[in-house]
Amino acid sequence: MRLEQRRPRIAWLALFVLVFGLGVERPEGLGDVTDIRHWSYPDYTRVVIETTRPIDVSLYELPPDTEHERPQRVYLEFPGIWVGRDYPEPIPVKDGLLRAVRVGQNTLTKTRVVIDVESYERYRLLQLTAPDRVVIDFFRARSGAKPSVPGEKSDVRLPLAFRPIRKVVLDPGHGGKDPGAIGIGELKEKDVTLLLAKALRKELEAQGFEVALTREEDRYLSLEERTAKAEGLGGDLFVSVHINASQRKTLSGIETYYLDEKAEWQSVRVAARENGIDPRAMNALQRTIAQLRIAEVSGHSRRLAQDVHRSMLSGLQKKYRDLVDLGVKQGPFYVLFLSSMPSILLECGFVTNIDDAKLLRDEVFLQEAAAQIASGLSAYREKASAVAVGALP
Ligand SMILES: [Zn+2]
Repeated sequence: MRLEQRRPRIAWLALFVLVFGLGVERPEGLGDVTDIRHWSYPDYTRVVIETTRPIDVSLYELPPDTEHERPQRVYLEFPGIWVGRDYPEPIPVKDGLLRAVRVGQNTLTKTRVVIDVESYERYRLLQLTAPDRVVIDFFRARSGAKPSVPGEKSDVRLPLAFRPIRKVVLDPGHGGKDPGAIGIGELKEKDVTLLLAKALRKELEAQGFEVALTREEDRYLSLEERTAKAEGLGGDLFVSVHINASQRKTLSGIETYYLDEKAEWQSVRVAARENGIDPRAMNALQRTIAQLRIAEVSGHSRRLAQDVHRSMLSGLQKKYRDLVDLGVKQGPFYVLFLSSMPSILLECGFVTNIDDAKLLRDEVFLQEAAAQIASGLSAYREKASAVAVGALP
C-alpha cells in the first residue's frame, strides 16, 4: 500500500530533476573547484585553479583552428572534479597573452579547463598543496617575436650571466592575517621583516640600485600572489626577508638560503614553516622542484647567498660578537622556486631567542643589518658585472 503511494512521487521527482536540472546529476564522491584566479605581468600570466582535493591533472596544447576562427588553446583535464554549471561564462583575461579561461563539466566525472591563448613561448605547470591548486604560467616570447600588446616595449632578456644588475626585489615575509613567527613579548615576524626590508631599500638606493618591494604595508599576500608579484616586478635579484623561530629557545643566529632540491631535514622544516604547509607535505613540493629547470639560476643564487651571508655576518659580528653564524643552506622554499632571477631567503635571527629578539626590536641593529646585506649585494653586483664585461664579445 505504502509503496504504491510513493512510486508516482519518485517518478515525478525524477522528471523534475530531468527537466529542471537538465539531466545532469552530480555523481557522488567528486571534488570541487573552489577558486580560479589570474595575474598578468609584462613577462607572463599566471592562472591558478584551486580545488578541494589533489588532482592528477593533464595538459594538452591545441593549435589555432583558422577554419572555425578559434585561437590557440591549452586545455587541462581535472578527473574527479565537479563544476556542473558553476562557470557559465568565460573568465576574461585579455592581456595580450591569454584571452580567457573557460571551465566546464566535460564528462560526469571530469572537469575541463580551456585557456584561449593569443601567443606564448612556453608554459610552466605546478601543482601545490594546502590548499590543493594547479598553477600554470604562460610566458611571453622573449625575443624575435613581436610583443602582442601594442605600444609595449620589447624586453629582450639576456642570459643571466650577461645581464647587468640594476634592480633588486625585496620581499618582506608574511603580513596581514599571516603574522609569521610570533616570539618573545609577542614580537611578530611580519613587523620585523617589513622594517628590515624598508631599511634595506634605503641602503640599496644609496648604492645605486633600483628597489621594489612585494609589499609596502602590513598586508596579506598569498604565496602565489607574492611570487607572481616578485617576478612581475622584473628585478635582477630577489631577496626574501624572514625571521626564524624554534621550539628550542636557545637556538639563535642568522642563516641564508638558496633554492636547491637537495636539502637537509632541518632546512625542510624551516621551509615548511615559511611555505605555510605541513612538513609531511614537503615531499610533493620537492618532487615539483626536481621537475623545474633551476640549474641556470641555482649557481648564481648560491654565489649571491654566499656574498650576502659573508658580508652580513662579518660586518655584524664586529659589533655584535655573540651573533651566531648558522651558515648558507639549501632549502625548498616556495617563494624562491617560482623566481627566474638569482634569489635568496634570509633568516635574520630568532624571535624565540631572548638575545636575538632583543636585537630584532632594536632599530640600530636592523639598520646595521640592512647596511651589511646591502654591501653583500653590492659585492655580488661587482663580481657579476666583471664576469659580464669579460665574457661579452
Ligand atoms: Zn617567515
